[in-house]
Amino acid sequence: MKIETSVLSDVLKTITPVTKKELNVLDISIDSRSLRNTENTLFFTLKGNNHNAHDFLNDLYAKGVRYFVVSQNVSLPSDAIVFKVDDTLRALQRFVAFYRKKYTFPVIGITGSNGKTIVKEWLNQLLLPFYNIIKSPKSYNSQVGVPLSVIAINDEHNLGIFEAGISQPNEMDFLEEVIQPTIGILTNIGPAHNEGFSTKEEKLQEKIKLFKNANVLISEKTDLIAASKSEKVKWFTWSFNQTANVQFKKIDTVLKVNFENTEFSVDLPFTDLASVENIATCITTLLFLKIDTKYIVEAIPQLQTVQMRLQVKKGMNDCLLIDDSYSSDYQSLKIALDFLEQQKTHQQKTVILSDIFQSGFTPEVLYQKVAQLLNQNHVTRVIGIGNKIGTHLTNVPQFQSYPDTETFLNDFNLRSFRSETILIKGSRSFQFEKIVAELEEKTHETVLEINLDAISHNLNFYKSKLKPTTKVMVMVKAFGYGNGSYEIAKLLAHHQVSYLGVAFADEGVELRKAGIKIPIVVMNPENSAFSTMIAYNLEPEIYNIDELNTFLQIAENQNLYNYPIHLKLNTGMNRLGFVEKDFDGLINLLKQTNLVEVASMFSHLATSDMPEEREFTLQQIQTFQKWSTYIKSELNINPVLHILNTSGIYNFCEYQMDMVRVGIGLYGVGNDTNEDAQLQNVATLKTVVLQINDVEKDATVGYGRRFKAEKKSKIATIAIGYADGIRRSYGNGKGYVLVNNQKAFIAGTICMDMLMIDATNIDVKIGDEVIVFGNDLRITEIAKIWETIPYEVMTSISQRVKRIFYKE
Ligand SMILES: *Cc1c(COP(=O)(O)O)cnc(C)c1O
Repeated sequence: MKIETSVLSDVLKTITPVTKKELNVLDISIDSRSLRNTENTLFFTLKGNNHNAHDFLNDLYAKGVRYFVVSQNVSLPSDAIVFKVDDTLRALQRFVAFYRKKYTFPVIGITGSNGKTIVKEWLNQLLLPFYNIIKSPKSYNSQVGVPLSVIAINDEHNLGIFEAGISQPNEMDFLEEVIQPTIGILTNIGPAHNEGFSTKEEKLQEKIKLFKNANVLISEKTDLIAASKSEKVKWFTWSFNQTANVQFKKIDTVLKVNFENTEFSVDLPFTDLASVENIATCITTLLFLKIDTKYIVEAIPQLQTVQMRLQVKKGMNDCLLIDDSYSSDYQSLKIALDFLEQQKTHQQKTVILSDIFQSGFTPEVLYQKVAQLLNQNHVTRVIGIGNKIGTHLTNVPQFQSYPDTETFLNDFNLRSFRSETILIKGSRSFQFEKIVAELEEKTHETVLEINLDAISHNLNFYKSKLKPTTKVMVMVKAFGYGNGSYEIAKLLAHHQVSYLGVAFADEGVELRKAGIKIPIVVMNPENSAFSTMIAYNLEPEIYNIDELNTFLQIAENQNLYNYPIHLKLNTGMNRLGFVEKDFDGLINLLKQTNLVEVASMFSHLATSDMPEEREFTLQQIQTFQKWSTYIKSELNINPVLHILNTSGIYNFCEYQMDMVRVGIGLYGVGNDTNEDAQLQNVATLKTVVLQINDVEKDATVGYGRRFKAEKKSKIATIAIGYADGIRRSYGNGKGYVLVNNQKAFIAGTICMDMLMIDATNIDVKIGDEVIVFGNDLRITEIAKIWETIPYEVMTSISQRVKRIFYKE
């Protein structure tokens, strides 16, 4: 799109005007890691809680980007064209709104509390035969996600479907401006309290702003909506129990539909209430669009569940799999390739890709663009599956093609995949889940799922308590508190935390080998590991004179200069650290040398989580302040000072000093229930039911016959035992798990790889999922029963339990 700078200035509401020049903008970007058409990209420099893209502009310039929208003063070479605005996010939205105005085809805008993404995906599945659809990928419905979705419209499209999500008052106007929906859909509104609104009315008022310029609003007929919606907007309604444009009645697995005095029935593919409501919304929309009822009757039973996540899984032969085996449109390919770049653990990046549907381009243009995308992302090898991709995709590295998934599975030597990161992306009909199943590392069905978004949320929660200048060190010791270190470290590097803290040198080496570049402090370095640490640029915690002497010796042999070290002072924990009597020796040694430099000085609190020990904590803090002041002045240095751990931040925030060290809180466990409520659960330990035994009264279960049925009972055996990290003492009716959301107590003794539960009143079948801990059964609860702390529960989960990382 050719735009004059003056026009663009006007659109963006620029403060500083720029030269009159025509820009050729072919792409916009907000993420320095996923650039494509560098010289034709308009880069919007966003500032997040943890990430300020302004810091990376010189890198972007070096890569060839020339058009920038910024909100801070930046110094870039003179041929960069810089638009300075008050708010880069608003500028992004204004720019996309301007772009959106070029198109006049119908656009569906969807909002509501629940079901937005599902309704969008289902409408897409249902309307595919009739339109060339542009839709938001995944659940891209935020202030940033919506503009990034809408900018993908091109001349070939003739229907848009976009979803809008808001979390605070006054956000919807911006999204309305970007989407400009002509047809509005309101899905279920849900309870009021779960978003940033005080009442349901207030929330609805805000949501309904999306439809203020639409021609029609499609929704359930309710009094609340009737009272809230604008008179101007036509209302096309559905209902289960009153007259509406479309009336539904559910009888078992059939939905009866009454529309304009004709009646027809559809078989329901899903029968839970939420799904039925979403199906009602879809049918009503199809009827509004005058889609033939015969088609509706055929198509609804074919609806597929909507997979919303990109999943990262461990593959065979040290491969990492990114499973996106449920969609293959051009937009979501872009997203998946970005994710591949973020997650890759290996040099080698392989993409297995099926034919791509519904792009709005002709096959020639489409596959040319796909080739471009794959090359720009430096994919090492591409495997195409399908007839279209086989004929049309050219000029990509190491391209191999197969007509269908079966042929690929038969002909390709799957064992030859080795130490590579593999993106598996295909549309549903290709059944790429079969490929994923073949390539997945075979472990038993017990998994620990880690929600990376929850980690980001928790980090933001603690950062929100700190001054913007306070640095953050995140403790990823003990394998990220049992959650997995590399994947979490990668996320934290993206969030620009200042340091990672590990316990041993080996952990730090692993992170370096996996490509983590941010500073890493080793908290319990062993003298024997110093050389390795230096080789991998890991910074030692130094806690006594002997250790310092050893390190200085090695530093001298290696000709180091100002190597960063971190001094630990023992202010009352009496674990590791210098005390007052060591100071003269310490100061003497450091005065004489420039082999090392004190990067930081710190101490650790023994009782930051105990209100009753407040005095002791304050005393530790005071001691630290006194001692660190003394050492600083003697050495005339100004290192980073830090003392607070997670509960320290929560209870003693005024002593944050220059840096804090967050551990457990990041993983979703706070100091008390108040704090817990503001954190998101990170880890879910899941397993499956292996067998169900109906037993008679008086039958016994398991080793030692410690469970005896008091009546006829249903016993389920599940695939987790003490070798997975479940304490044996959790058995015999003390502990419980959740099966289909209901409590089931552990029956009898826990075995090594299995345990039995009493599922007498629970509707359960073989293969059902069992939650050992997660959102609805928190680790804190289990720790109470184990008579320990959540730290121990988390770090007990055995490494044989497969970790799966995901992002919403
Ligand atoms: C583990 C550790 C922390 C983090 O503690 P949390 O209570 O998990 O926040 C902080 N500092 C040191 C020295 C640690 O060893």
